[in-house]
Amino acid sequence: MTTVVTILAGALGIAVGSFLNVCIDRLPRGESIASGRSHCDGCKRQLTARELVPVISYLVLKGRCGSCRAQIPRRMPIVEVVTGLIFASLYLAYGPSGTFLLLAAYACILTIVFVIDLEHGLILNKVVTPILVLALAVAAIAPPQWLGTIGPHPIVSALIGAATGFVLLFLVALVSRGGMGWGDVKFAAFMGAATGFPLIMVAIFAGIVTGGVSGIVLLVFRKKGRKETIPFGPFLAAGTMIALLWGQAILRWYLGMM
Ligand SMILES: [Zn+2]
Repeated sequence: MTTVVTILAGALGIAVGSFLNVCIDRLPRGESIASGRSHCDGCKRQLTARELVPVISYLVLKGRCGSCRAQIPRRMPIVEVVTGLIFASLYLAYGPSGTFLLLAAYACILTIVFVIDLEHGLILNKVVTPILVLALAVAAIAPPQWLGTIGPHPIVSALIGAATGFVLLFLVALVSRGGMGWGDVKFAAFMGAATGFPLIMVAIFAGIVTGGVSGIVLLVFRKKGRKETIPFGPFLAAGTMIALLWGQAILRWYLGMM
């Protein structure tokens, strides 16, 4: 039974991933994500229902538009498959629960931020503001267990987390002089509201470590020059997911070492 539901969760994730692609395509262009059929970027032709099946359509069309042969970005099937895998893994780990739903929702948000920053080098205000409000509302109304009990109510953890993330990255932005953008600083407030305090520390630390390691790897393989900047948002998004999933275990391990 669990296997069947896990597969269903994966299929749901693939379908949701398809919608995340729509968000990733349209949000930076200022287009509506709720209305308007998808079209080919090459010839502007509206896509038919058969061309909108996640993953399958990409494979059948061999990654090109049926009319103009324009390449369909490889990111489309990648986001769909990764979202499917995330949903299936989360279901396996948490089962049918509020935690599963919240982590799946946060994974979707983080995927959108990750890919848009990777492709455009920016974190959009119209994304950060609603997700910050959402994370604070969740902490106030249905707080997840990882927010802990540092105050009379878990919202305290979320608020201190948001303030900590904002201030820490604001300081990093001051020191790095352009290496870190204003979008990253505001996004860090969301990170803190979602993970709470002290897990925000794990999120930022994990982001800096993964970013640093990736930067070194890219430098070694000369994919990027020393002067080129690498967007930092994707690493912050990855660090946030790491903190949400394993933050408490990482913190216990770290405190045990001291
Ligand atoms: Zn086309």
